[in-house]
Amino acid sequence: MAKLRRSARIAAAKLDKCSLPGKAVRKAKASRALKKPLAGRKTATHRQSPIDIVPGAVCHDPDLCKVDTLNISYKPGDCCDVIVNAGGFRVNVERGCSTTLTGNHLGDATYELAQFHAHWGTNGQKGSEHLLNGKSMSGEVHFVFWNTNYGSFCEALNKEDGLAVVGVFLKEGQHNDDYHSLIETIRKAAGGDKPFAMPKDFDLIKLLPSPDDRDFVTYAGSLTTPPFSECVIWTVFTTPVEISYGQLNVLRNIVAENHRECQDLCGRQIRSSITFA
Ligand SMILES: [Zn+2]
Repeated sequence: MAKLRRSARIAAAKLDKCSLPGKAVRKAKASRALKKPLAGRKTATHRQSPIDIVPGAVCHDPDLCKVDTLNISYKPGDCCDVIVNAGGFRVNVERGCSTTLTGNHLGDATYELAQFHAHWGTNGQKGSEHLLNGKSMSGEVHFVFWNTNYGSFCEALNKEDGLAVVGVFLKEGQHNDDYHSLIETIRKAAGGDKPFAMPKDFDLIKLLPSPDDRDFVTYAGSLTTPPFSECVIWTVFTTPVEISYGQLNVLRNIVAENHRECQDLCGRQIRSSITFA
């Protein structure tokens, strides 16, 4: 299983816009040491992701975390195609994408959508990358945005607020019609080696929790796949979205699991829009 997960991670690295396969392999190997002490090493690994969101580390900060300011503005057609490889799937955006993310906790910056993908596990008891007080969900979708104050996605990877990733927990349960077109497109794309067109009427907003269930936590972290850049302001919705066993199995048929283990908090504070218990 360990072998499988490593290869899945390396494959996932190829999904990253800026990583080269050779580098990804070396960095994936290096990543195995991430949880060990780093005495004498200059590599910054104090803000790795994912983490266990434990109540003791969460600070309720309603002045910073304002649900009504968190806005994803999706332009129909921006999510143009999906590519499936050994590590999972990735939905790509059109050149000149104008889907944006803003929010009080993200400062004045406007973040632009780069891609989205998901993580999952072999059964419904695991698969999310972040944990909620030690508990896994069945999966987690990551919407990856880059800070347009920087010149490009690749430049943003080197900045501490370069990326903003929005995480949506998946919970195995009822069939979800709002995920149907995505899952069916992934099913069709699997087995092919070329990008497969997304339906023209796909609406990314439907993949999020409903508007009155968008309480979130935020913290400074990293990519969870190579090159593990410490450039991500995370926004993780605390209310999961349900999808069915059958829908999750379409993902498990790509690869059994593709989630990274939790990393040390290293004293970081997590801020939230709600009292967290
Ligand atoms: Zn991810």
